[in-house]
Amino acid sequence: MTRPTAIARVSRRGAARWTLAMHPWIYRTDLLETPADEAGAVEVIDHGGRSIGMALYSPLSTIALRMLTRRPRAIGAEFWRERVAKAVAFREPAASAAAAASATLAPAATAYRLIHAEADGLPSLFADRYGPYVVLQLLSAGLEPFRGNIVDAIRETARPAGILARHDTAVRALEGLDQDVALLHGEVPETVEVAENGIRYLAAPWTGQKTGAFLDQRENRARAGQLARGHALDCFSFHGSFALHLARAGARVTAVDSSADALARARENAALNGLGAIDFIEANAFDFLRDREAEGARYDVIVLDPPAFAKRRDAIEAAIRGYKEINLRAMKLLAPGGHLLTFSCSWHVGRDRFRAMLEDAAADSGRLMRWVEWRGQAACHPEIVQIPESAYLKGAVLQAV
Ligand code: SAH
Repeated sequence: MTRPTAIARVSRRGAARWTLAMHPWIYRTDLLETPADEAGAVEVIDHGGRSIGMALYSPLSTIALRMLTRRPRAIGAEFWRERVAKAVAFREPAASAAAAASATLAPAATAYRLIHAEADGLPSLFADRYGPYVVLQLLSAGLEPFRGNIVDAIRETARPAGILARHDTAVRALEGLDQDVALLHGEVPETVEVAENGIRYLAAPWTGQKTGAFLDQRENRARAGQLARGHALDCFSFHGSFALHLARAGARVTAVDSSADALARARENAALNGLGAIDFIEANAFDFLRDREAEGARYDVIVLDPPAFAKRRDAIEAAIRGYKEINLRAMKLLAPGGHLLTFSCSWHVGRDRFRAMLEDAAADSGRLMRWVEWRGQAACHPEIVQIPESAYLKGAVLQAV
């Protein structure tokens, strides 16, 4: 951007959030002086006039400023290239420098998150790799003026054959941005075959949920494979990713989802991997679990990976009731020694609430449950301790003693 840098002045509390607590968000209520109405990069000064760095400014959002850096510096092509390169290098070993590999995640997959927004120093920017393609989401007004810089930076560092913008998401409306799906570079096919932990599956970048698949469960699916035995139940199976990992490890699997389309794709994925021992059932998981309980069924492994029950803060209590119901029923359905892998991707339900819900469910289940381990989101979705919002997926493995 060549226009002169605009300035935003913020309250003592707003400034401290960034300078002391290292959290990049400054709310509208902490703005003392609003910059020009135009969205983009601004310099931020505290109540006393001292610069605290550069931020993206969103005129409509309650998160008015998203801090980018403590240094007053130009926010242009070079800045975006630096940050994007860092995010990519964190995941992908540099082809030339073998030594760099040890500092790199190198996910056991051809599809994974390349840029996880604030957690990669790139507020409101998400990018996911699907083999040679990248799906991008610019989710704040302040980012939009830099769309060209960001696309260039991704082309240089990740070298994709195509870049697709999945901007058909409601959060863009809160920023006053249009909602569309647009090809930004090269080409991107309707479906892409990718692999995760050696399991092949089809992703749909143009139309699939999120950016085309759920990339945040990779390590948890591998863990499910390790625990697989006997008869396994995958509830909220979607495209069958947990079910495939369980079946490959030799379990007989029942996969349940309420969406016929999702199950059709899950069947295709099973065929792609030559895995026949999966029974796909179209049902409401709540009803399914209740009916199995009534029959006295038993499973050796149960996976619960529901959609976010609490999409908003005022839905938390109802969400907790929903989580408790399915977890309670799942605990009752475990064979002796059986494992429950249970998850919540509700951003509004934190670890403490999730754990309390499980304690409640266990208390009512009449089964003694051993806490085996906490689980979280895939390492390509890093969590920053100072930015709790960077963590949304939480889970646990429990065992019926
Ligand atoms: N476990 C999947 C992701 C699950 S996404 C994976 O690893 O990729 C949540 C899924 O729950 C969606 O496929 C949705 O169709 C399904 N779903 C939502 N409500 C449901 C319900 N009440 N019963 C069964 N499935 C449901």
